[in-house]
Amino acid sequence: RYYLLSSFFMLLLTGAAFYFVFRLMKHQNIYAQARIAFTSNMTHELKTPVAVMEAALDAITRYQLTNDPEKLLQYINISKTELHRLNMMIEKVLNLDEADSGETKLRSELYDVQQGLEQVVRSMQLQHTSAGIHYHPSAEPCFLDGDPVHLTNVFYNLIDNALKYGGKDVQVNITCHCTADNIVISVKDNGPGIAKIYHARIFERFFRVQDNVDVHNVKGSGLGLNYVKQIVEKHGGKIRVVSDLGKGTEFIIELPVYNEV
Ligand code: ADP
Repeated sequence: RYYLLSSFFMLLLTGAAFYFVFRLMKHQNIYAQARIAFTSNMTHELKTPVAVMEAALDAITRYQLTNDPEKLLQYINISKTELHRLNMMIEKVLNLDEADSGETKLRSELYDVQQGLEQVVRSMQLQHTSAGIHYHPSAEPCFLDGDPVHLTNVFYNLIDNALKYGGKDVQVNITCHCTADNIVISVKDNGPGIAKIYHARIFERFFRVQDNVDVHNVKGSGLGLNYVKQIVEKHGGKIRVVSDLGKGTEFIIELPVYNEV
C-alpha cells in the first residue's frame, strides 16, 4: 500500500516539475541572463523537495513504519512540508507568467485586511511553532477594494521572508494601522537586515542578496518581493523597506482604504 502511495506521489511530483519547467521555458527571451541563473537555481530548488520527499516515502515503505506511529507521522509531515514548498514555488512562477503576459486580472472585492492578516498569521504560526509571530491589529476596521487571493499572497510572502531570513530566534511583528484614508501594514523582523545599497534591487525580479545570509541555506527564487510590489501598486499602494545590516528588516505597505461612492 505504501509502495503504491509513494509511486503516486512521485508521479504527481514529476508531472508538476515538468509542467513548471515547460511554463518557465515559454519566456526564454526576457531577461536572458537572469533566466540562466534563475533556471539553475530553481532546478536545484525543485530537486531538493522532490529528493527529500522521495527519501521520506522510501523510509516509510522500507522500514514498515506503521509499527512506529510517531516516526510515521514525522515522515508524513516532512513530505507535507516539502509538497507545500514545491507548491509555493510553482505558484510564484505561475504568477510571474501571468504578469509577463499581462494576464494578472485583479478582482475587485470588499476585503477585510485584518481578517486576511489574521488568517495568514494563524497559518504561519501553525507551520512555524518555534518562531515568535505576533500580530497587533488596528483598533479601527480596515477595508479596501481589492483581490483577496493576491493580497493574502502579499502578506504570506512578507511573513515567510521574515521567517526564512530571520534566523533561529526570529521574532516577527505584524502591525496594521488604519486611518480615514490609509491602511498601513508593517512586517518587522529582528533578523540580519539588508544593507542600504540593496534596498532598491531587492524588488527586482530574480535579485537575491548574496552577502547578508548564506543564500545556499535559505531557499528562494528572487521573485517574491517583485510580485509583492506589483500587487501592492496595482491596488494603488506603495511599499518600502526600512533596514540595515544587523538592524532587522521592516517592510511597510500603504494602501488606500475602501471608499463608498
Ligand atoms: P527570495 O526570498 O525568493 O530570494 P524575494 O524577492 O522574496 O526572493 O527577496 C529578495 C531578497 O531580499 C532575498 O533573497 C533576501 O536576500 C532579501 N530579503 C527579503 N526579505 C528579507 C528579510 N526579511 N530579511 C533579510 N533579507 C531579506
